[in-house]
Amino acid sequence: SGEGVGGGYVFYNQEMNHTIAGRLHIESALRRALERKEFSLLYQPKIDIATGKIIGAEALLRWLHPERGMISPVDFIPVAEETGLILQIDAWVLETACAQARKWRDLGQDAFRVAVNVSAKEFTNSLPERVGDVLSRHNIAPQWLELEITESMLMNSAQGVLGIMDEITTLGVTLSLDDFGTGYSSLSYLKRFPIDTLKIDRSFIQGIPEDVNDCAIASAIISMAKQLKHRVIAEGVESQEQLNFLKNAGCDEVQGYMFSHPVSAAKFEEMLVKDYRF
Ligand code: C2E
Ligand code: CA
Ligand code: CA
Ligand code: CA
Repeated sequence: SGEGVGGGYVFYNQEMNHTIAGRLHIESALRRALERKEFSLLYQPKIDIATGKIIGAEALLRWLHPERGMISPVDFIPVAEETGLILQIDAWVLETACAQARKWRDLGQDAFRVAVNVSAKEFTNSLPERVGDVLSRHNIAPQWLELEITESMLMNSAQGVLGIMDEITTLGVTLSLDDFGTGYSSLSYLKRFPIDTLKIDRSFIQGIPEDVNDCAIASAIISMAKQLKHRVIAEGVESQEQLNFLKNAGCDEVQGYMFSHPVSAAKFEEMLVKDYRF
């Protein structure tokens, strides 16, 4: 790390995450970012593998820092989680994604849902009520919204995770299990928790078709998902070979640079309105 533009410190590197001064710096920068509306959302299409139609979008957070330009969520989410600011940030994300979903519905787009990433810190008893509140304020049908959660959240049984998930799915909002395969003891959770979709982590998609292990893992996840009656989506699909493999294996949905990078709401809307087929 070192002096950055304007005399500030470069705050988005890993070293700074580990010092108190570094974390304080990021924390105040994040507070300012919330006040000054430096955050924005990009949307990456989720595609039905059988029809090539867009059936959803994942909202992905971006921080446009006035001096440093675009900062990736991987570089500030960890600090936001440690400082608790993630609650305000994710509340903003949910609010903004739902407002956007409302606009798209008003354009007559009704066959897709918007997915929002939920941080472990946010996954508390108050989440169902907050979600219900946002839905009603924006007049959003619950099936238009999907929450992407990770395996690590499921392991925290002290928090009454199952109860929270039940309340959310009772609202009609669907849950998908993100980065699937990278966490621990996922299998027992699969039948206990009301999860709609498994999202195979990009790390298993990357090596397809050359890496026999990646191929085996991806096929195994897909066939297990099918037998347990979950939907299954692959993230990080970048090539035609990967798409062919996933199609053959029976994967339901795909997402990745092959189809589209995460794009602005305006660009995403263009694809929707044109009824773009991949
Ligand atoms: P994630 O939820 O696993 O999101 C997928 C990441 O993979 C995104 O990175 C996306 O841009 C990227 N990606 C999509 N397709 C491809 C591809 O074909 N190839 C490659 N190499 N990458 C692809 P991004 O946007 O930088 O987000 C990184 C992580 O930050 C996310 O991982 C998620 O854990 C977190 N994140 C993003 N937005 C939010 C948010 O609003 N709230 C919270 N709590 N976390 C967020
Ligand atoms: Ca995600
Ligand atoms: Ca993911
Ligand atoms: Ca991932």
